[in-house]
Amino acid sequence: MSKVMIIGAGGVGAVVTHKCAQLPEVFSEIVLASRNEAKCKAIAGQLDRPIKTAQVDADNVGELTALLQKEQPELVINVALPYQDLTIMDACLAAGVHYLDTANYEPRDTAKFEYKWQWAYQDRFAQAGLTAILGSGFDPGATNLFTAYLAKHYFDEIHELDIIDVNGGDHGYPFATNFNPEINIREVSAECRHWEGGQFVTTPPMSKMARFECPENVGAFNIYRMYHEELESLSKHFPGLRRAQFWMSFSDNYLKHLEVLENVGMTGIEPVEYQGQQIVPIQFLARLLPDPSSLGPRTRGKTCIGCMVRGVKQGSERLMYLYNICDHQECYREVQSQAISYTTGVPAMIGAKMLLEGSWRRPGVWNVEQCDPDPFMADMNRYGLPWKAIELDPQFQLDLVKGADL
Ligand code: NDP
Repeated sequence: MSKVMIIGAGGVGAVVTHKCAQLPEVFSEIVLASRNEAKCKAIAGQLDRPIKTAQVDADNVGELTALLQKEQPELVINVALPYQDLTIMDACLAAGVHYLDTANYEPRDTAKFEYKWQWAYQDRFAQAGLTAILGSGFDPGATNLFTAYLAKHYFDEIHELDIIDVNGGDHGYPFATNFNPEINIREVSAECRHWEGGQFVTTPPMSKMARFECPENVGAFNIYRMYHEELESLSKHFPGLRRAQFWMSFSDNYLKHLEVLENVGMTGIEPVEYQGQQIVPIQFLARLLPDPSSLGPRTRGKTCIGCMVRGVKQGSERLMYLYNICDHQECYREVQSQAISYTTGVPAMIGAKMLLEGSWRRPGVWNVEQCDPDPFMADMNRYGLPWKAIELDPQFQLDLVKGADL
């Protein structure tokens, strides 16, 4: 029985709040705090049990520390934006509260996310006897634990990892992002990096494409290699990996819009002066695009996100694929959100449950794959994200489309 504070009342925050509210035996009290309390109240109004709401600017360590001292939760679930990770970690240290997030810190003025800033908190959390769990969404999050689970139960050594994130959903808009537009566009327009031969190799954005046939009739999709933050922690924590890549599906329509927006400078992060005001183009663009939390009722189709791992078991080469399929409309019926928010929010709730119940509680700062994957994987099946592990013919290769080096 524990009190939890959820920070951020966006698409993911709504799902985390719904899912925590479904488990009063674990999350006995819930406080939902965000920059705009009206959004917290709107989410609270969707629930069938009372929760508290609060207004807070999580960029302000003093303000957040005071709120934490007043409410005294055991754990903060940070589902605000990556920009707030360090200030929220500082406030947790000041108030003696455990911490969990779904995305690693990113400075506002550089579109580059890295774990080094958060890993630097290791000693401070350890000395305070507090646990910080990093990256407990789907990717990062479930994908890290899928890798750890496969490594633990199916392999003696793992050598190659392909994380494949397919969103086969359609929201009917010409262009919209499924989570925070600013964070999403910064991520997909960044240079690609993948792990190969003991180092990261950099290639231009979207320069490698493959065709991937999802299981269970979800469909066939063009997937593009890109950088994603779990590659940094997984290549560190599984040093036997010779290659690790991340792939995401994009429709031709999404890519066409993104290219035009980039070409005209609308994805820029440097402020531009316009009529005496400083305007950051990507923030203005985010203002114009549909709010991801409004996509739930109109998104149809499925996501299929999983990890393909190649390695060796008892001297023989082996290839395993562990995946989850999630239906946008089923998510909407359950928690009034589309599947991208759902697939992020459910692992955040489960990670929080792991920490509060003790199986992931260990003073220090940890990426999820450093924790025991077994209880997490069992709860994925119980709380809405069932998964399957299937063995593939080791001859299988991701089918690189002709002319794939675009
Ligand atoms: P949204 O933009 O929908 O929600 C973010 C929320 O945080 C908003 O309610 C926003 O307030 C609030 N917020 C922003 N700044 C502050 C602040 N300074 N103080 C208090 N609250 C603040 O984003 P999403 O819900 O789509 O994403 C949330 C997080 O989840 C992001 O970090 C994202 O990167 C991560 N994510 C992780 C995924 C994974 O699989 N690991 C996948 C998808 C997302 P306001 O309403 O006022 O704007």
